[in-house]
Amino acid sequence: MRLPAGTVIAVDGPAAAGKGTLARRLAAELGLPYLDTGLLYRAVGRRVLDRGIDPQDARVAEAEARALTPEDLARSDLRGSLADMAASKVAAIPAVRAALLDFQRRFGAAQGAVLDGRDIGTVVFPEARVKLFITASVAERARRRFLELTGRGVAADPAQVEAEIRDRDAQDANRPVAPTRRAPDAFEIDTTALNADETFHAALAFIRKKLRVIA
Ligand code: C5P
Repeated sequence: MRLPAGTVIAVDGPAAAGKGTLARRLAAELGLPYLDTGLLYRAVGRRVLDRGIDPQDARVAEAEARALTPEDLARSDLRGSLADMAASKVAAIPAVRAALLDFQRRFGAAQGAVLDGRDIGTVVFPEARVKLFITASVAERARRRFLELTGRGVAADPAQVEAEIRDRDAQDANRPVAPTRRAPDAFEIDTTALNADETFHAALAFIRKKLRVIA
């Protein structure tokens, strides 16, 4: 599919809804760069934890956001419940979000991109040509996260995984700055009963229609 130059595709939604899988596949299909913006918040959270400081400390979290390096994004310890919650805590700090905004905008503006996160269609690229909002029931998202963890050999308790997803959803959706929200012009895909292929094809059909691309 040939897209207009500089096309930005925003993929937002709550944790474990399938955004990453979809966004990565769309980027490969459409020949666009891909940015997992959650990694930025995860890396900031990790840097704050490394210093032995509470991720809610705004001054330290902002300093760590400003000091972020590409190596931080390649760390192998950015996933797991501690990293998840630290990311969500630093993400609620306005100065941290401000520090990461330019990087995300420059990434997308260079040659277009697929970006996934919570506020791509509402704050980072409110003018994005394509906006997708990916959801699924909490039970289904918890089931997927549990399978992902155990698949990686990480011991997990299903009830705890679900409780952590609920906590993070609440924290991300209720913060005053850039909460998880569907942009009014975003196309919502509820993936509760869809597999990754079905989600991908639903997204692709919407993109074709939206951009009036025939092939
Ligand atoms: O998408 P992921 O689950 O990796 O994101 C980790 C955390 O980073 C989220 O729970 C959320 O608090 C934060 N985040 C955000 N805005 C984004 C991407 C992620 O606030 N655009």
